[in-house]
Amino acid sequence: MAAQSFDDRDGWVWMDGEFVPHRDARVHVLTHALHYGSCVFEGERAYGGVIFKSREHSERLHASANILGFKLPYSAEEIDRAKAELVKKQGLENCYLRALAWRGSQQMGVATKRDDVHVAIAAWEWGDYFKDRMKGIRLMVAPWRRPAPDTAPCNSKAAGLYMICTLSRHAALDAGFDDAMMFDWRGQIAEGTGANIFFVRDGVLHTPTPDCFLNGLTRQTIIKLAEKRGIEVRERAMFPNELASFSECFLTGSAAEVTPVREIAGQMFKPGAMTEQLMADFSALTRRANA
Ligand code: PMP
Repeated sequence: MAAQSFDDRDGWVWMDGEFVPHRDARVHVLTHALHYGSCVFEGERAYGGVIFKSREHSERLHASANILGFKLPYSAEEIDRAKAELVKKQGLENCYLRALAWRGSQQMGVATKRDDVHVAIAAWEWGDYFKDRMKGIRLMVAPWRRPAPDTAPCNSKAAGLYMICTLSRHAALDAGFDDAMMFDWRGQIAEGTGANIFFVRDGVLHTPTPDCFLNGLTRQTIIKLAEKRGIEVRERAMFPNELASFSECFLTGSAAEVTPVREIAGQMFKPGAMTEQLMADFSALTRRANA
């Protein structure tokens, strides 16, 4: 049976200040965001009806829009309130939320009206981002690299930047992998296509410095949880020739949560004590019983 399309569901979407029936949450084909990628978004999860780091996500949505040169017509507090109301109205406990803001239809061209900005929030039930997550996933090396900070607005969670993520993940799936690990423009290890990456060696946690990709909220949470356990965390430039020296590897993200990695392009890892500990700590923090 085909999965139910995302535009054909029951329930509500919060759109430009009001709740509209899910199927009516539409935009016109002549929308700047659709033509020129002028959209920013957030992916978030609620656990037991409570959105994890809601304010931080709302603030990042604002920051992402500001980097693209537009301002949201709703404060972070208003967006927080709308998200919480939506989760309740949808009757959801454990769910995924997508908040987005985009440039509208008032003018079509590379330059457009700067105050033509829309905001919407949707929420739906979504289980694990990766099938068989607990077994550990297999990554290949992405055919695309994270661009330099003066090539793309890399600190914005901008829809346009996901073009190379989709291409990379499709390439990985076509080759029989679960996802791809992306290098950056220098050839250093960067991240997954929708999640940050961590490695373990001799009880120390290593993760690339987020200087050309998103410093994920889950990433920041995991670093804090590790430090709380007295685990040394090294944020640094990381290189592909180091891969063989690591025993464990995992991805972090709002959708991916903490996902063990068992292979990167033939290099094997064994999800071990450190990954398990941090998964348990993250799970306890988000109050999710089934992780
Ligand atoms: N990198 C990319 C490309 C992502 O899409 C995400 C998911 N938002 C992350 C990293 C992780 O960010 P977060 O932990 O804030 O969800």
